[in-house]
Amino acid sequence: MKKKNAVAYARFSSTLQRDESIVRQLESIHEYCDRNNLELVEEYIDEAQSGTNDRRERFQDMIEDAQNSDWDFIVCYKMDRFSRSVADNMHYKKKLSKYGIRIMSVIEDFDDSSPEGNLFGLMTMGLSQFYVENLKRESFAGIMQNAKRCMTTGGTAPFGFNITEDLEYEINEHEAEGVRLMFKLIIDGYSYAHIINELNNRGFKTKFGNPFTSNIHDMLKNRKYIGEFVYNRASKKNADGSRNNHRKKSENDIVRIPEGIPRIVDDRTFFTVQRMMMNRRYQGYSNGTKTKYILSGLIVCSNCNFSISGMISYAGRKKIPRVRYTCQSSKKGRDCNVNDINALYYEKYVWSIVDEILNYKNIKKLQDLINKQLTLFGKKLQEEIDKLNEAIERNSKIVNELTERVGSLRSSADKILTEQIGEYMDIIIEYKNEKMYFEEDLKVLEYIYQKDLKQRIKKYRNIMNSGKENQLLLRRLIQRIYQGNDFVKILLRLNAFIPFKLYNDLTYEKSEIRDNIAFKYNNKRIEPLFK
Ligand SMILES: [Zn+2]
Repeated sequence: MKKKNAVAYARFSSTLQRDESIVRQLESIHEYCDRNNLELVEEYIDEAQSGTNDRRERFQDMIEDAQNSDWDFIVCYKMDRFSRSVADNMHYKKKLSKYGIRIMSVIEDFDDSSPEGNLFGLMTMGLSQFYVENLKRESFAGIMQNAKRCMTTGGTAPFGFNITEDLEYEINEHEAEGVRLMFKLIIDGYSYAHIINELNNRGFKTKFGNPFTSNIHDMLKNRKYIGEFVYNRASKKNADGSRNNHRKKSENDIVRIPEGIPRIVDDRTFFTVQRMMMNRRYQGYSNGTKTKYILSGLIVCSNCNFSISGMISYAGRKKIPRVRYTCQSSKKGRDCNVNDINALYYEKYVWSIVDEILNYKNIKKLQDLINKQLTLFGKKLQEEIDKLNEAIERNSKIVNELTERVGSLRSSADKILTEQIGEYMDIIIEYKNEKMYFEEDLKVLEYIYQKDLKQRIKKYRNIMNSGKENQLLLRRLIQRIYQGNDFVKILLRLNAFIPFKLYNDLTYEKSEIRDNIAFKYNNKRIEPLFK
């Protein structure tokens, strides 16, 4: 069989800091041709010229030569070597396809004869023109290693980074220690207030040279800490020079470039903290102040979904203090008929369950219970993954259909189409992220041994006996308590007992019929967790 013919096109523009050298580009093209059994018949090289215009001499030569050639492919290192603008790319692609020539890229290596490949090709080119996300994370990371795009748009670097003279991000080692400390302390369960104290005690200062006060919550959400460069399109000029900053910055306007800048924390730590912060928000635990009502923030009213928290009131002429847990909906101007619960008995009740779990005598039962939950959990994870795969496939189909309808990319109808594609891509990416959490958990899942349990029970027992961090302990062991008028449901967090980290909570639900007013009277009849 006759080998197919290919020509190489390489371009180097001096303005790009991390540009691949011509040599490197050509090497890759040669390798690529060997691998794909292509005969490389010619090389076209443009050096040190801007890619945004067409005055690339060798490029023009190539286009002209193409007309009467017997080439099958033009191979470039990255699509953006071939052309920076989507419109130009479409133009030349069309022209070349008339001569039976297709453009190939070593890095992207997609098949642009399929709609999906075509879309991917389009998307990898015009960062400033189109919404881009990592359809193919691996190859994308390479494409996006582009200094120009990973430079700051000015302003102050986030804590943990410096901005170099070339406007690039660089890790500030001292501050990075502080960043890692923050993440670690969150995982260890400390409150924001505690963490802020810790940072200040250790002499860390904000970028403005001040002590930390609040808002480390927002800092912890910064994806730059996992090396993601976030490029905000809305604040940048459009291709036609206009600015579109009239609408709010939706996710569509944001281009994320994984591994665009150096990272400070690993993914697992980062995402674990994101999940934990989400839970905290729900638990209303973010104020960090220690309350004497240790169940505050843990109980949710199953009647109205507001939290149930502790309060003190003074009854009668003698002003006898009464501490109780009460639904907070009334504070928000709503009515709820869930009765108050005597705090003393409620706490006693919860502690009795904790005491039961942390009892060495029950270790075998606890082991069985957790392993049983792990099996169920594994099944559940697989189900979720399957569901997400279906959803991803469904949405990918839509993207492909829309892509086929995109024409020259110059009309406004096409613009709307590409915007729609962007929205569906968002959905796909969200699903993929979600899937990642499940898959990661599935990977580390294994049964636990009694020695794992023993170690942890000992640790928790010590905390319990010292009485110092009881609130923390409860939050580690209990995810949520749902309280109704005639039942109580406790979601135990079994994550506290397993030797590997999970993104998702592994829970066990203990529920029982329990009239909350009568907590006091049937205190002795607590249904045991282990029967
Ligand atoms: Zn309520």
